[in-house]
Amino acid sequence: MKAAGFRFLRARCVAEALALKAEHGEEARFIAGGQSLVPALNLRLLEPRVLIDIAGLRQLAGTRLEGDRLVIGALTRHAALGADPLVASHAPLLLHALPHVAHAAIRNRGTFGGSLALADPAAEWPACCLALDATMVVAGPRIEGERRVAAAEFFRGLYATALGPDDLLLRVEIPRQPAGARSVALELARRHGDFAIVGVAATASSGAVADPRIAFFGVADRPLRFAPVERALAEQGIGAAVAELARRLDPAADLYHSAATKRHLAGVLLRRADDRLRAAA
Ligand code: FAD
Repeated sequence: MKAAGFRFLRARCVAEALALKAEHGEEARFIAGGQSLVPALNLRLLEPRVLIDIAGLRQLAGTRLEGDRLVIGALTRHAALGADPLVASHAPLLLHALPHVAHAAIRNRGTFGGSLALADPAAEWPACCLALDATMVVAGPRIEGERRVAAAEFFRGLYATALGPDDLLLRVEIPRQPAGARSVALELARRHGDFAIVGVAATASSGAVADPRIAFFGVADRPLRFAPVERALAEQGIGAAVAELARRLDPAADLYHSAATKRHLAGVLLRRADDRLRAAA
């Protein structure tokens, strides 16, 4: 199939992108890397009359340090994160997750912010942001200046976020990981590059798995953390944590996998994540 006709407007700055969105309202969509939007257009799942191209907003691309935070522009491409020394030093979890995000061609075009704005429940970046305690910075016509939303509040449900219909995700702020911190991202997928059946993104402040932060994805309408599971892992060990997870996790079945299968696989990944956190150099 081919996309329905649309006008293509290129924004030259954030203010212009927001003004164009305000002008065209529900009929318009932002397009960043186009790696999720274009397939949806071609399948005619969406038929916006206007596409507002934000891919050229270079001020929203790239990374920098601001005090104790690593700042990642929304337009930073997936692949660029993999070559970024600031990411390697201050948010290595993203490097562990990157190979699981789609395929090389998609990683070359797709953007960090596009993935977060889309909020696919089986995507890696939303879970990483949850595990890393990230903050999303948003601008919009009904927002004075900028609005900051914690990752725990940002993902609201299936493809639903705290972004208003005309809002633009500008950047993400991630607390710099302390020296000695560990991180791991693991997933099970039918083929490499597919969205996860179940995945886990985890950090700990030391190899003794202190202060674990463990986000599961592919198990619900949004990425999830379970405080009792994290507490059990830190205080009682992996057996207690897996048992706690089995009690707390009520996964949604998908077309191929039952809830029971997903619950089991989440436990398997939790064990593997614990091993890796302890072993990671
Ligand atoms: P676009 O496709 O341009 O936009 C997606 C949506 O987000 C649109 O609604 C758009 O309006 C909105 N949007 C984009 N940027 C912003 C912004 N800054 N502010 C507000 N709204 C915005 N992803 C994974 O995470 N894991 C996978 O395993 C995976 N596998 C894939 C496999 C295939 C075959 C394909 C085609 C895609 C896959 N993806 C996967 C999706 C890919 O990562 C996309 O690049 C990403 O989800 C969207 O980023 P984008 O920049 O391409 O966004």
